[in-house]
Amino acid sequence: MADSITWTLVCVDCASTFPGDELRYRCTCGGTLDVVQSGSPGIDRETVDERLRSRHPHDRSGVWRFRELILPGADDAIVTRGEGRTGLHPSKALAAWVGLESIVLKHEGENPTGSFKDRGMTVGVTQAMRLGKRRVACASTGNTSASMAAYAAIAGLEAYVFVPAGKVAFGKLAQALAYGARTLEIEGDFDDAMTLVQELCAVEDVYLLNSINPFRVEGQKAIGFELLQDLEWEVPDWIVLPGGNLGNVTALTKGLGELHALGWIDRLPRVAVVQAAGANPFYTAWTNGAELVPVRAETLATAIRIGAPVSWRKALRGLHATNGVVTQVDDVAIVEAKARVDAAGIGAEPASCATVAGIRRLVQEGVIAKDARVAGILTGHVLKDPGLVVDYHKGELAGIESTLANAPQRVAADLDSLRRAISG
Ligand SMILES: *Cc1c(COP(=O)(O)O)cnc(C)c1O
Ligand SMILES: [Zn+2]
Repeated sequence: MADSITWTLVCVDCASTFPGDELRYRCTCGGTLDVVQSGSPGIDRETVDERLRSRHPHDRSGVWRFRELILPGADDAIVTRGEGRTGLHPSKALAAWVGLESIVLKHEGENPTGSFKDRGMTVGVTQAMRLGKRRVACASTGNTSASMAAYAAIAGLEAYVFVPAGKVAFGKLAQALAYGARTLEIEGDFDDAMTLVQELCAVEDVYLLNSINPFRVEGQKAIGFELLQDLEWEVPDWIVLPGGNLGNVTALTKGLGELHALGWIDRLPRVAVVQAAGANPFYTAWTNGAELVPVRAETLATAIRIGAPVSWRKALRGLHATNGVVTQVDDVAIVEAKARVDAAGIGAEPASCATVAGIRRLVQEGVIAKDARVAGILTGHVLKDPGLVVDYHKGELAGIESTLANAPQRVAADLDSLRRAISG
């Protein structure tokens, strides 16, 4: 363990504190934990801007470029694959479709394993190294397992992933296998796997790398940091992202609050979380002003097919702090938004496109003004779920009308047939 611990773990529910180097994921009361840094991070905006020109792997990483705000003193232990540095894409076509004058989309699918999970995982695996752990585990709807498998392989750690049998998109399952993680298909859903992995890590010497691990959240703060840096520290009116287990919105809002406290930004953007209507316990809790009641989740957007989100209290706190909102969109809206995002030449996995469907809904409802400056977060790569794409374009997606289908066409292997086909 490095000798300069500058943080403590603080319970979100009862404010109990624990030493920063203590191995724990929850408070004794059961509440989730925050990493809270003490003292000044000793870094300014100019320094992180200068690092954009550096060739050092830690500066080149879109997470470790902000290391003083993420995990101070980790230097020698850092396990990086150059995560972050994702594009911020404008799209006229998508702005017009959602009803805005302009829109920018931060494409987290451009991370090394194709989702934003790499930002949290580089920090989680680095912390595993600092704690001397040899085995790591996670429950996953797919992307966490893909990411953990890769980072564990780089670090030489043994990796166990728990996924819901038959409910993981093909690209993600392929990655977990390819990177060599021991992959256990649980005969249950994600929420069952999440419960089991917490029980396992309590009785075995295995380090838990779900976003209940507060160091994962610290890494994911860098989505917001990098987005603000991309925008030359000009704060947008809205940042919109999908919500499943709600680690990402927790991280985004925590990081924004820290930037504001440091004076790096002069105000906070509003944050909107979009849930799938079939996996909407947070939307329901938000709308009713009540405690979260878990649901049995069902949606084509498998990355957010979560009925008992672990980080909901932290997410709620973050949304209150940013004057945020929660909305929901059904699978028809998600799949249509996905067809639009893909056809705009950007492309993303279904859960990511809940962002765009949610923006469209919030503009229609007048919550987001048409001239607002809106940044949407696309969380995963288009190739994560090729099965859904092909089914959609062939008109074979159950319960969904393929209004923007672009089906492949069979052609005889001769020039005349080809010429007829392209003119037809
Ligand atoms: C994990 C994930 C989400 C949901 O993020 P949470 O932190 O669980 O709310 C959304 N989209 C994609 C592609 C993901 O991998
Ligand atoms: Zn507590």
